[in-house]
Amino acid sequence: MIKLHPSIDNGWPPAKAGFSGGTLTCKCATNPVTVEIGAQTAYNHACGCTKCWKPKGAIFAQIAVVSRDKVKVTSGEEKLYIVDPNATIQRHACKECGTHMYGRIENTNHAFYGLDFVHTELSDETGWSPPEFAAFVSSVIESGVSPDKMAEIRARLNELGLPPYDALSPALMDAIATHIAKQSGALAA
Ligand SMILES: [Zn+2]
Ligand SMILES: [Zn+2]
Repeated sequence: MIKLHPSIDNGWPPAKAGFSGGTLTCKCATNPVTVEIGAQTAYNHACGCTKCWKPKGAIFAQIAVVSRDKVKVTSGEEKLYIVDPNATIQRHACKECGTHMYGRIENTNHAFYGLDFVHTELSDETGWSPPEFAAFVSSVIESGVSPDKMAEIRARLNELGLPPYDALSPALMDAIATHIAKQSGALAA
């Protein structure tokens, strides 16, 4: 069976009712960066893009969103740097171990402004919102996955109950397009 991501390959625990967040910890053995998430996440998904952080050996990343005012760096802030300051999502990563701790959108006109992107697998708590779909699936080829593997990868994602998309999910693509249409005036704001 093809391995996609350690938190996805064997299934996952369900979301816990009333779950209110937890602490993300980077992979450093000493003085790790810790980030407190003060709410349940949403839109958790597997991502095949080349920018999201993946644990060693994983084909996909697993990533969710949470309101940026619920994300607080609680230690090791001096170890964080922005991986690509020009990217739409500014990924704040640990200089020492490379783990991405949170991704933030600073463009106030962006459809997802106000949401941070986080990897809940970096927390010991269980009860986070589970993965719902797989985004940017074709992009795993850009990371070196053979195109011959794509049928098997898409079949496995479907078997896991994660519909594979080559962009974001239809609901999120519709949200982005609606936002743009309202900005351009094509739709009434
Ligand atoms: Zn680290
Ligand atoms: Zn991604």
